[in-house]
Amino acid sequence: MYQNEDVISKAIKTPDGEKDFQVRYIRDENVGIICTPTDKSFFLLDSADYWYDLIQEKYPPVMKCSCKNDRFHLTFDYIPRVDTGDFREISINCSCTVCQKVKRLPPIEIDYSPSAQLFDQPITFCKQPKIKYKTYSLAGYWSDDELIGLAEYLSNKNLFVYCWYWDSKNAKRCFKELSDEELHSFLTGKAERYLAIYFSEEELDNIPMQVASDGKGVIIQQDIWRKNGIFMLHGPFMIVSYGMFYQMEFCSEYIDRDGNIVPKSAHFCSLTKDFQKFSKQLFKNN
Ligand SMILES: [Zn+2]
Repeated sequence: MYQNEDVISKAIKTPDGEKDFQVRYIRDENVGIICTPTDKSFFLLDSADYWYDLIQEKYPPVMKCSCKNDRFHLTFDYIPRVDTGDFREISINCSCTVCQKVKRLPPIEIDYSPSAQLFDQPITFCKQPKIKYKTYSLAGYWSDDELIGLAEYLSNKNLFVYCWYWDSKNAKRCFKELSDEELHSFLTGKAERYLAIYFSEEELDNIPMQVASDGKGVIIQQDIWRKNGIFMLHGPFMIVSYGMFYQMEFCSEYIDRDGNIVPKSAHFCSLTKDFQKFSKQLFKNN
């Protein structure tokens, strides 16, 4: 139980006592990894849960000091949440091993409990930081018939269909399950503008996906389709003189927090194969 908000600092070292690190950090997500001179990698705090999804598009570069050195000593500053055993905020300070200049990364707000493990185990060993897995993306200037063809193919496979959309009357983002009829209205532009439509193997009530609320309704996690049995149709873009640009993303495997590539359910894997066949045929015929 913490009585006040006095900062508790912890110098970071590995179980082998190494404390000079290269740092790769994704600032917008507060996710990062560090690497020792003997080439052992460690996730910072709870980064293991997010790292593999985030690096699929772009691998973060090694952080450099203005003196060009890329090795740092790390200290984590923990601010306790008063009257609990938890932390409210954690800051990561990186001190250059050559010129001693300190880079302070943006503070990380901790909005969950328990969080004592982030102090007891501030870094977690990572066997292999760079793993890619195969994802599929289907994109193009589709006609209404093509779009509806793809969507109906999936909705006829007994998937749950959900829509994240902009409710213009109440000026906020909403999320709801769609009937076949509602799906058709959204796709043909007769309903509100959709931000994304999800064709999901599971009911989405069980999946934590609402990442934030900014007073304008719900915000759904961008990468929800990566770990779950979901085909995600992004809201379309209007490209002047070309038309509507659509994109659908899905994958039949994911990487767990230990760095293992894990296939999704057999049902979902076979569905992704069938869907790819179907879409090839659809675009060949049209
Ligand atoms: Zn320096």
